[in-house]
Amino acid sequence: MKALTGAVAVVTGASSGIGAATARRLTSEGAAVALVARRRDRLAGVVAEIEVNGGSAYAVEADITEPDRAEEAVAEVLDRLGRLDVLVNNAGIMLLGPALHTTVAEWDRMVALNVAGLLHVTHAAVPHLISAAATSGREVADLVNVSSTAGRVARPGSSVYNFTKFGLNGFTESLRQELLAEHVRVSVIEPGTVDTELADHLTGPVGEAARKQVNSIEALRADDVADAIAYVVTRDRRVAVNEMLVRAGEQT
Ligand code: NDP
Repeated sequence: MKALTGAVAVVTGASSGIGAATARRLTSEGAAVALVARRRDRLAGVVAEIEVNGGSAYAVEADITEPDRAEEAVAEVLDRLGRLDVLVNNAGIMLLGPALHTTVAEWDRMVALNVAGLLHVTHAAVPHLISAAATSGREVADLVNVSSTAGRVARPGSSVYNFTKFGLNGFTESLRQELLAEHVRVSVIEPGTVDTELADHLTGPVGEAARKQVNSIEALRADDVADAIAYVVTRDRRVAVNEMLVRAGEQT
């Protein structure tokens, strides 16, 4: 039997990059995975690929910056798949630039997704994780937050992104302690530079600099981060991997 046979996982931001790789990987561990994101065509493509490989996947088209939609997305998964054992809060956006030359609208977009969207999904999901931990053969449930090296190291040009990811690390640690007794493991993954579409949302010189940085080293692949997440959620219940910092080999 595979480690996650019978388990249901939700991965936010699963239409591309780290989220799509994580969805693929968790299905290969036996989980049924609900993929949450906005782009219907991209979600359908990942779901089809998983199904061709014999996995079980379900697309939930949702903009999680809308509080009602975030809550409905979790309800839809419960309705459709019956339970929730693993939540991977992965959806995120990185809009870089010097603080005083960045628009407040860009700050708001990052806070709306990286902070508020994540909180709405988490609030809706935690009661179901608690009941899954109490009823499943695994006797544990998992909540994994995808932070960043930017959650540990601040640099010029990423102040608000740093704000969202440092905050996520603090939130994760507090929630970890709160949910210990409920057998819900709460973990944070901090990837370094990963070759995904994340930098494609940046334009002008900031975008060029970000892409140059990704191309200047052999970056991590989305699958490398999916591996780390799979490691965390497939441990025996006696083991809790609280935090994983995974940099590219050549990254300072
Ligand atoms: P991608 O841009 O490929 O993935 C971002 C995902 O978030 C997409 O699936 C996107 O889907 C989804 N998303 C964006 N807005 C919303 C929304 N409003 N509601 C629901 N889903 C949304 O980048 P990555 O895979 O790199 O990023 C994933 C996470 O990894 C982020 O949290 C990022 O901060 C973190 N990270 C990335 C690193 C990197 O170097 N790439 C390094 C460290 C951390 P859609 O547009 O279809 O909604």
